Amino acid sequence: MSGRIRQLSALLQSRKISAAELTDRYISRIERINPVLNAYVSNTFDEAKKNAEFADKLIAEGRATPLTGIPMALKDNICSDGHLTTCCSKILQGFRPYYDAAVWEKLRAQGAVLLGKTNMDEFAMGSASETSVYGAPKNPVDITRVTGGSSGGSAAAVKADIAAYALGSDTGGSVRQPASFCGTVGFKPTYGAVSRYGLIAYASSLDQIGPLASSVEDAALVYDAIRGKDVRDQTSVSTPRGATELETDVKVLKIGVPEEFFSEGVSDEVKTAIEAAICLFERAGAKVKRVKIPAFKVALPVYYIISCAEASSNLGRYDGIRYGYRAREFSYIDEMIVKTRTEGFGKEVKRRIMLGTYVLSSGYFDAYYKKACLLRGRIISEFDEIFKSCDVLLTPTAPTTAFALGDKSADSVTTYLSDICTVPASIAGLPAVSLPCALGKGGLPIGLQIIANRFADGLALACANFFEREAGVNAELCREVQL
Ligand code: GLN
Repeated sequence: MSGRIRQLSALLQSRKISAAELTDRYISRIERINPVLNAYVSNTFDEAKKNAEFADKLIAEGRATPLTGIPMALKDNICSDGHLTTCCSKILQGFRPYYDAAVWEKLRAQGAVLLGKTNMDEFAMGSASETSVYGAPKNPVDITRVTGGSSGGSAAAVKADIAAYALGSDTGGSVRQPASFCGTVGFKPTYGAVSRYGLIAYASSLDQIGPLASSVEDAALVYDAIRGKDVRDQTSVSTPRGATELETDVKVLKIGVPEEFFSEGVSDEVKTAIEAAICLFERAGAKVKRVKIPAFKVALPVYYIISCAEASSNLGRYDGIRYGYRAREFSYIDEMIVKTRTEGFGKEVKRRIMLGTYVLSSGYFDAYYKKACLLRGRIISEFDEIFKSCDVLLTPTAPTTAFALGDKSADSVTTYLSDICTVPASIAGLPAVSLPCALGKGGLPIGLQIIANRFADGLALACANFFEREAGVNAELCREVQL
């Protein structure tokens, strides 16, 4: 299905509108709509105007790509030279990086137009974007609901069309879960497919940048533009996208349905919607088989042990000397560091630093961190086994639809449970896409997750494209939101 990028690109190429005019339209939409949604936490309108000028030049010279002149947004943890990038944390207040993240460098070179930085959970820790120091963004489908997290601002901006597409980061589900809650497409590529250079680290062995977009085709276009090996990120690899032009023969497709993803906590309406999606593939000739991932039950604790351990180390650099915020009153350096960290980090971030320090401490390292690493290996081999006889797996993206703002913010553990369906693919480094498959009670979107084997990103996207076209749901969910 032709998404927003293709439509806008056609207008630009045929000179019905210039990149400068299109940018102005988006800027006035942001000025009108963002005060309601709180999707952006800072804008880069000066940059956008410069980018648009460059885009118009590329178009005039016949050097445009589909992303040239298209207005977009970056999550507030992706660096861009000279622009505020704060991870929505007080500790990075006023921080302006002096270099571009690899992803923005690539997009800028193609004439992308950067409108601003989007709201997120502080340091990407959360599932509702409510731990942001700027307050939570609101879900454009129903503004009393959360956007999901942590890339909630990116999902809201795409849904409300105040960005044609946006980048988010996904450590345990932060691109896919907000995509599911807001009714957009969200894609987490194979670990390493996209350079993490310039992404402010949360948990380095899990972090991955991915697009949020209004259609599968749009997500694939953006993914193609940002992927590739980068010497500045030694975990990056070049990946073949494959599944050319998003087409795959569904008749020869072997689909696995892991039963653990449908266990308690998953609401009935979500189960029904996903079963209906599975039937659609089956009717088209795909072979569907029920499979088991017994290690699913340890995925959540494994994820939280490993991600907190890595976060406690990554966040050690915020000491009041090198970046952002510094406490005002102190008499010696240690006191300055302690005060800066005490005042600069929010509650959830502190909780995770403490958890991470605990599981890495000498007395508990073997019992927690080492065991979690061993179990991570088991989860990976169970997926490997399943992919010997299945091409893709179909599951829900999240156990429920978007919950009410403020509903879960008091209780971390219930919030952690909303990641249950997304963390397994993160732990195993697998590509996974979430796309709208139905509307639940109150018209709230439900997301279908398609997981593929490592480096089969193209196949995951092709299956999603097939579903989007056959089910015709996305068009309905992506109609312009009236605000
Ligand atoms: N909700 C998960 C967490 O809090 C995932 C966040 C993410 O993917 N960045 O860690």
